[in-house]
Amino acid sequence: MKRYAGKAQGSFTRRDVLRQLYEGMLSLSEAYRIQDQIISSADAANVNSLMGLSADEWTAHLHGMPVNVLAKWRYEGWPNVCTMCGRKLDYQREYWLAKEMKGQYGLIHNDCLKRMVSKSPSRRSASG
Ligand SMILES: [Zn+2]
Repeated sequence: MKRYAGKAQGSFTRRDVLRQLYEGMLSLSEAYRIQDQIISSADAANVNSLMGLSADEWTAHLHGMPVNVLAKWRYEGWPNVCTMCGRKLDYQREYWLAKEMKGQYGLIHNDCLKRMVSKSPSRRSASG
């Protein structure tokens, strides 16, 4: 692992933020404070591993999923259907985007997103 020579480093120990959140040992604001502290430190590049996030969890977080939602997903299961098309989505095998839709956090297929984006904006009613 690469060290940052000459900078204050090592003030953070790796912790499992999602687990601590899920077990109630950490509040959401405490989790974000930890994240902010890491990001503004010399350890910023390692923020995902210092918070104990997997690559998928970190990606979903970057897409806007709050850490408490990620904690729920890890311990109760990730969404397995696409929020947009309702079909099966395997987050470990498919390309996806994590997105909040209608107040619900979920995953959508990359292809579903592309279809949505490529549709020209029309004023057709979207009531469903
Ligand atoms: Zn879909």
